[in-house]
Amino acid sequence: MHLVLLGPPGAGKGTQAKRLAERLGLPHISTGDILRRNVSEGTELGKQAKGIMEKGLLVPDQLVAQMLDQRFNDPDIRKGFILDGYPRNLAQAKTLDEILKRKGIAVDLVVYLDTSDPVVVKRLTGRLVCSKCGANFHTVNMPPKAKGVCDNCQGALYQRSDDNEETVLKRLQVYKNEVASLIEYYKQNKKLSSLNADLDAQVVLGQIIELTA
Ligand code: AMP
Repeated sequence: MHLVLLGPPGAGKGTQAKRLAERLGLPHISTGDILRRNVSEGTELGKQAKGIMEKGLLVPDQLVAQMLDQRFNDPDIRKGFILDGYPRNLAQAKTLDEILKRKGIAVDLVVYLDTSDPVVVKRLTGRLVCSKCGANFHTVNMPPKAKGVCDNCQGALYQRSDDNEETVLKRLQVYKNEVASLIEYYKQNKKLSSLNADLDAQVVLGQIIELTA
């Protein structure tokens, strides 16, 4: 299964991708996670991406495409993958098709996690991420058992620097400028299924699993 999760920041793509990856035994590929790792390791790519990410803008297509192409060379993707955070515009969707074609595979299903703006803002401004295992929590909706500590691995929880209200609104605007053409592209290719992702994460997970069956 070569699955793409599409939706605004805060739609729950990361949360769903992690759960699906575990359930289906597939690698979870998040371009945001790979970029953040590059930033924290201070790589050349990370240095170029840092300021852009802090402003809530998109890292140039070419840089992200190169990074993704490299990731798709890893042997684990032979089983399939769950892609989260890519594509973010029509050019990236076409690049993805080209990269996969060279590897003899194609996107099977695109699940669009449709989410309303107030839900996005509430989810992201309260989101807490584990610095060790990447698990997500929320100050109100899903608080950790002990304040600031991950339930799973006891890692320290932090708030992403782009999860403040101002940057969240910018990210939403960037997303909206691009999403219509992406949705149209996958509709035409008959790969798109839409879900209401304002609903509880467990309900949404069940619906995605049904779509992949
Ligand atoms: P995410 O973790 O998916 O919310 O991504 C965090 C940030 O990483 C975004 O706001 C962008 O700055 C950057 N980013 C992630 N994926 C992409 C992509 N496909 N194209 C361009 N920039 C990206």
